Amino acid sequence: MNVYLDNAASTPTHPAVLAEIDKYKDVFGNPNALHSCGRQAGELINKARETIAKAINATAEEIVFTSGATESNNIALQGFMYANENIGMHIITTATEHGSVLNTLEYLEKYDYEITVVGVDEKGIVKLDELEKEIRKDTVLVSVIAANNELGTVNPIKEIGELCRKHGIAFHTDCVQAIGHIDIDVEEMNIDMLSLSGHKIYAPKGTGVLYVRKGIEIEPLIHGGGQENNQRAGTENVPGIIGIGKAFELLPEIRKFNLFLIKNRLKHEIIGNISDVRINGGGIDNILNVSFIGVNARELLQELDKKGVCVSLGSACSVNKNKPSHVLTAIGLDNETANSTIRFSFGIFNTVEEIDYVIDVLRKLVEKLRK
Ligand code: PMP
Repeated sequence: MNVYLDNAASTPTHPAVLAEIDKYKDVFGNPNALHSCGRQAGELINKARETIAKAINATAEEIVFTSGATESNNIALQGFMYANENIGMHIITTATEHGSVLNTLEYLEKYDYEITVVGVDEKGIVKLDELEKEIRKDTVLVSVIAANNELGTVNPIKEIGELCRKHGIAFHTDCVQAIGHIDIDVEEMNIDMLSLSGHKIYAPKGTGVLYVRKGIEIEPLIHGGGQENNQRAGTENVPGIIGIGKAFELLPEIRKFNLFLIKNRLKHEIIGNISDVRINGGGIDNILNVSFIGVNARELLQELDKKGVCVSLGSACSVNKNKPSHVLTAIGLDNETANSTIRFSFGIFNTVEEIDYVIDVLRKLVEKLRK
């Protein structure tokens, strides 16, 4: 049996998304061209823009299409700081951000921007009081992940938005894992910039969105023809944008799928059948992070793979680094426990039968590897 439990790394493209892309295969004109073939493509982009804006309570003019959330995070952080450095050079973030935020901030540090990294509690939730204490006169930006990609932990985005608004600081959030699992409303949550990715919500890879609140200044990182409201140049990826637009249209239906049932079944079967396990984090319904004490997670992943089960070590983006995940370290796990940790992540194509197969395989493999 083949079981794909790495949906937080990437989801399959939904058949309805593929069908929508296929439906418009003859609309190949440049969306910025003046003729009808181009205009038609432009209209399709704008339809997707409207759909996505509506889903997060933004306006279409505030939606910038990008190549993915890595790019969205880079534009949000670098683009904002370059445009606002005359006001201040200080940014606050958290210890459990995705690499595309942490490494971008590390890069900015080389050019005299100052970064403060706030800690998290044992669940992975940012310490709000610590965050507030770190606010300085020259703080211009706060960036906090909405739902963590390794733990599934959800941060208090509305409260952070309120805090930033109170202090007159811009607020960016990486919503890649949160979208489709928790309600996101940029007005109610006082969000100024927000990053999204298509391939975590059943759209193709290489599609992303950056929401930039009207009035927030950012400098483009890619210069060219002035597309995307002068915020991200380059001819738009029309098929990809049709795909991500369709994925957003499907989200209300997708959210009806009971991922909690699947996650909870695996969680309780693991706890009931395997000794010395530790469940880390928790929050959104598609991520289950488990440490199998005394087991080398890399070996377990490889053995699971041989049995047709795809899982991840912490986050797929950090698997090549031979050190424990910075997220697991931030919640206080020692190296050995961190290195015994597997992330299972679920999607709408998973079934209860698959979970029963996985638990059977897991039980035997953990026992074998512990010997
Ligand atoms: N942020 C988070 C929380 C993610 O999980 C990911 C994907 N691993 C990204 C950003 C980067 O997204 P993309 O793959 O679209 O560049």
